[in-house]
Amino acid sequence: MGVRKVEKRLFGTNGVRGIVGKDMTPDLALRIGAALGSLSDGVIGVGRDTRTSGEALASALKGGVMATGCDVVDLGILPTPALQYLMRQQGYGGGAMITASHNPPEYNGVKVIDADGTEMGDEKLLALEERIFNRDFRSAPWNGVGSETSAPHLVQDYVRGVVEQFPGPIGGGMTVAVDPGSGPSCLTTPAILAALGCRVFTIHAQMDGRFPGRMPEPSVEGLAALSELVRGSGAAFGVAHDGDADRAVFVDESGRFVDEMDEFALIEQFICRSRKGVVVAPVSCSRMIEDVAEQNGCRIEYTPVGSVYVARRMRELAAAGEPVVFGGEGNGGLIFPSFQFCRDGAMTAAMMVHLLAREGRPLSSLVARLPPHHTIQRKIRTRTPLEILRRIEKAYAGDALDFTDGIRIVRDDGWALVRASGTEPLVRVIVESGDEERAKRFYEEIIRCIEPETGQF
Ligand code: MG
Repeated sequence: MGVRKVEKRLFGTNGVRGIVGKDMTPDLALRIGAALGSLSDGVIGVGRDTRTSGEALASALKGGVMATGCDVVDLGILPTPALQYLMRQQGYGGGAMITASHNPPEYNGVKVIDADGTEMGDEKLLALEERIFNRDFRSAPWNGVGSETSAPHLVQDYVRGVVEQFPGPIGGGMTVAVDPGSGPSCLTTPAILAALGCRVFTIHAQMDGRFPGRMPEPSVEGLAALSELVRGSGAAFGVAHDGDADRAVFVDESGRFVDEMDEFALIEQFICRSRKGVVVAPVSCSRMIEDVAEQNGCRIEYTPVGSVYVARRMRELAAAGEPVVFGGEGNGGLIFPSFQFCRDGAMTAAMMVHLLAREGRPLSSLVARLPPHHTIQRKIRTRTPLEILRRIEKAYAGDALDFTDGIRIVRDDGWALVRASGTEPLVRVIVESGDEERAKRFYEEIIRCIEPETGQF
């Protein structure tokens, strides 16, 4: 296993997040900027989503960066994958995206991006945290302070970059509905799908950090208006993004929400039919992802839970000369290594157009042909998560166990994952089987093993 998980104090799985004015303040943003500048060489690219606090936090972060002697390019409002694309295209030495992704409007945060466009890995983040906590910053003299350039037009290079991944106007007049959720994908996905030959209808397509139409998490309830637009316009599908557009979720032609694991499997199947190699996914993914890979002459490789582990493992494999064809998380975050090693919502939407144009069947019928899978997911509060993991390991010693992240128990007719949270007193349990009853029985069996350790508090 090439990827190991490290617990950090400030940075979670996808950056720093917190409530604005409480945990997420200009002071913290300034220190993140100063730490990033201290660890980087060259120009730092800074972007933000549409949140009302974005400008204030970006200003503070940029100030911190420039004080260390690094120059800043302010890319304005753009999706996280657009900043990641520009990192390599523009040759920046580092990047920072001011975003709280799917969190409500009162939140904001920072995702730190490496020069290669991937989210910063654990080792560097620990060094960054160390500098933030110790206020250990490089301090440039008066004649060495960095300066700022504004380049909000560069998001258009990302739009062109995605469009160029496809052979011409593949949409062929296909009607599609897009819900950017008042986020930065207002600038990208509708334009990309139109350039690919689609007839595009939009909803919540004016940038607004108060998110008046729906919350940044593209939940089933939040997408009711998109479903209505799909039905009313006769669209082949509807697509919605989270607050920074690294994820994409879909509703089918009847307006029904497509399960994100089905979305992963469908696009995986489409890609694996024409390209052979490795698919990378976290251990929390449905067995269907492994089955689809194998049925199409590819193999799966598992990582700890978190998109950054998936993306970095894909990059490692590619660097070692392995053909890496696809990766993803199972929450609408999919990674297309032929384009870049990060989750990319607009690429996902464009790939769905390509897939439907090629398959020539409605999205609902493609989803219906996927193998059945029944999943039970629970969080269980406990004071002793590690004791629970030891108990599970002992109880299931006779089964095939995988310790990539927590304990995954693999059986012929299903699997289960028990993971301890790094930040909260709880364990997460996922159980899946092709048969609903068997999933229930397996879940109850695991709960009986866990229960003596759980307490009410
Ligand atoms: Mg996101």
